[in-house]
Amino acid sequence: MIGSLAKAKQKAVAIGKPASGQCLCGRVCFEIDTPARWAWHDHSPASRRAHGAAYATYVGSWRKRFRITKGEAGIARFEDKTTKTVRRFCAHCGTPLFYERARSPHMVNIPRALFAGRTGRQPLYHIAIEELQEWAYTGEPLVPLKGFPGVVWQRTKRKKRIDHDGMF
Ligand SMILES: [Zn+2]
Repeated sequence: MIGSLAKAKQKAVAIGKPASGQCLCGRVCFEIDTPARWAWHDHSPASRRAHGAAYATYVGSWRKRFRITKGEAGIARFEDKTTKTVRRFCAHCGTPLFYERARSPHMVNIPRALFAGRTGRQPLYHIAIEELQEWAYTGEPLVPLKGFPGVVWQRTKRKKRIDHDGMF
């Protein structure tokens, strides 16, 4: 990973079309020049809690290639002094927006899910994979759940009948 990052750093990267994103309510909009520097899945407990999700997938952008295009005044900030990180989120809808680490002052990390289109990088890397939660979905085969249109599930091997009533 370090080797490929170093290689990417040495190579002069031509700036492509910007990739834009927004928060849930749309008050905050931003864009980065593509390709992004890198992308990864972050399984650390801090990111898991900040996103309220099994893990967070980030796109890292050089700060100079990142712009807030709308709603800068509506961005709130949380500084985590123990990890020396700053997380910004939309003060109106709560969407996690930008994640900055003191150890990488020239980078802004943005949840991949906020971008509508391509960012020029696939998330090939994992941080803190040992924290992968046993309840996280990792691609097991799924089948339709009888009687619940739109719901699929991972069939259990147990013989015991599962009561699905009232689940959805
Ligand atoms: Zn918002």
